[in-house]
Amino acid sequence: MQSALGVLYPPQCVSCAAPTDTDFALCGNCWRETPFIEGLACDLCGDPLPGEDDGSPSHCDACLAANRPWQKGRAAMVYDGNARRLVLALKHGDRPELARAAAPWLARAATPLICPDTLIVPMPIHWSRLLRRRYNQSAELARSLARILDIDHVPDALVRPKRTRAHDGMDIDARFANMHGAISPHPKRGAQLAGRSVLLVDDVMTSGASFDAATRACLAAGADHVNVLALARVTRDA
Ligand SMILES: [Zn+2]
Ligand SMILES: [Zn+2]
Repeated sequence: MQSALGVLYPPQCVSCAAPTDTDFALCGNCWRETPFIEGLACDLCGDPLPGEDDGSPSHCDACLAANRPWQKGRAAMVYDGNARRLVLALKHGDRPELARAAAPWLARAATPLICPDTLIVPMPIHWSRLLRRRYNQSAELARSLARILDIDHVPDALVRPKRTRAHDGMDIDARFANMHGAISPHPKRGAQLAGRSVLLVDDVMTSGASFDAATRACLAAGADHVNVLALARVTRDA
């Protein structure tokens, strides 16, 4: 069956549709042109940093200035070039299958964030956005990641009862004010956060305001601690 499907639908690059050896992967060209984060990165947000990784945690200026409520954070790629195109296609291009391609990239970035009692939780979106997009891109990412790592996953542990404005054009303070209290534990399923090491998953981290609100909701529900993982990190240089 698999080989019959392979003849009908030969594997294609998820970015440019060039032929590839495996499904849900990038071709060599697109792989080289996607800014994956390697080497030393901020221990709180995954922003690439200059210098060598000597094993001790380093922090970027934005995280030093902010009071991050989570413990550790990582991102798979810098939000630029081909990474930006992939995220936009996942978010607005009706291509949820890109989450499956992203799962191994997320898994690699998440290595320092995983412990035996990790519970994967996606960033929630407001129901009106879900209605328009048909799926929550962060929930697709979280589900694919949980599947390949074989880790517990609660897709609706958090909810977003308040419809917030889009963050485009807002400065950092406005973004944090906009997100304040926007995310809560689910009235029933939120109880599953208690005592767990929560790994929050989102498609993009910019200021960290969404992760901040979601982390505080997890801690209010009794989570032991929270780590955060973004598919792409917006850096000042990008
Ligand atoms: Zn390609
Ligand atoms: Zn940082």
